[in-house]
Amino acid sequence: MGELIKMVDGSLYVPTNPIIPFIEGDGIGPDIWRATKMAVDQAVKKCYGGRKRIEWKEVFAGEKAYRLTGDWLPVGTLDTIRNHVIAIKGPLTTPIGKGFRSLNVTIRQLLDLYACVRPVKWIEGVPCPVKHPEKVNMTVFRENTEDIYAGMEWKAESRQAKMLRDFIREELNIIIPQDAGIGIKTISRTATERIMRKALEYAVKNSRKTVTVVHKGNIMKYTEGSFVEWCYSVAQSEYGNKITIEKEVPDSGQGGNTEEKVVINDRIADNMFQQVLVRSDEYDVLVMPNLNGDYFSDAISAQVGGLGMAPGANIGDSMAVFEATHGTAPKYAGMDKVNPGSLILSAAMMLEYMEWKEASVLLKNSLADTIKQGTVTYDLARQMRHATELKTSEFAHAMVANME
Ligand code: NAP
Repeated sequence: MGELIKMVDGSLYVPTNPIIPFIEGDGIGPDIWRATKMAVDQAVKKCYGGRKRIEWKEVFAGEKAYRLTGDWLPVGTLDTIRNHVIAIKGPLTTPIGKGFRSLNVTIRQLLDLYACVRPVKWIEGVPCPVKHPEKVNMTVFRENTEDIYAGMEWKAESRQAKMLRDFIREELNIIIPQDAGIGIKTISRTATERIMRKALEYAVKNSRKTVTVVHKGNIMKYTEGSFVEWCYSVAQSEYGNKITIEKEVPDSGQGGNTEEKVVINDRIADNMFQQVLVRSDEYDVLVMPNLNGDYFSDAISAQVGGLGMAPGANIGDSMAVFEATHGTAPKYAGMDKVNPGSLILSAAMMLEYMEWKEASVLLKNSLADTIKQGTVTYDLARQMRHATELKTSEFAHAMVANME
């Protein structure tokens, strides 16, 4: 019988036999979930003998939930995740015209999972488009709940758009074209401070060198500009003795930091797109508003081989959901063909979050070893010379063999 994981006053309590809910996901979800479960269970067994064990509990969302309950995202699923504190999910189809913009966005918003965390690091042997992928080791903290991404928008010529247009013309003397759709971008101090806190906490705990705030504050002064200002202010007021501000200590961000303090700096987003490509090793932890984070997490993942291998987590103050970052790839559904790497690496993040570090490391190492041996799924095999192509399930078996 499993036991509940608990979060008490911000501290996580993980029993030796935690119950963890999983959503297997749509399309390729069941294939990659089976592979992930096999690899995770073996890593846990190998590291702890029978002393620790995960009791998996299936919860439903997406097409499977709709088939079984007539609901794409049953209330019971959200309640179970809330009660169990930690969950893991495969990709979900976005039902078109069914009232949800995206099930993934809805889950993040309803559970207030405000930090989307995406560590990006190259695994030796993974084919990629840059010359020095080994220089990439960045973790993106993307604010998940607000910005232009929050879905406050109205269609051109709708009643609401007209109302807003009239109000803005009358009260602010600004003319918006009659045929314009309108979206609202909000960035609050509260949401900014909590995402920056998460990034700082991670940087300090993991001895990272820098935290870079990525923004377009030069143009959007009272949203992204304020985001930068509030990030600096929370760093100074809450982490003053553990940080150095690059502007105050020039060169500290370029390796001149000798005090082993975390250097806080900021970069304008367009410049940052080239910085992460040409000076990858100077960047470490990145924190940014929702839309910038959406672009950067995928762009940096591409540098190390793409989304098939990129893990992710959505973390709030009282719970966390770990997830594959790619979609449901419906054309490969049920073919036992695709790469389970993203979900497996997300599970490794989950084990680390639970402080089951040995199992997390074993899982990551066995995945890296399997790739190094040239035994990979189709997506990597087609880009590698002399690789042996494996099915999803065979890849999981190869990982298990590498744990011996
Ligand atoms: P996608 O499912 O990510 O697939 C696009 C392509 O990426 C696939 O055709 C495949 O490329 C490659 N790919 C994705 N996952 C792979 C894996 N595990 N191993 C190897 N290759 C992989 O994107 P999409 O076709 O745009 O979206 C399909 C559905 O997924 C939509 O309903 C979308 O809303 C949903 N979606 C969900 C999430 C989520 O749940 N977090 C995220 C994104 C999209 P090749 O064809 O080149 O082999």
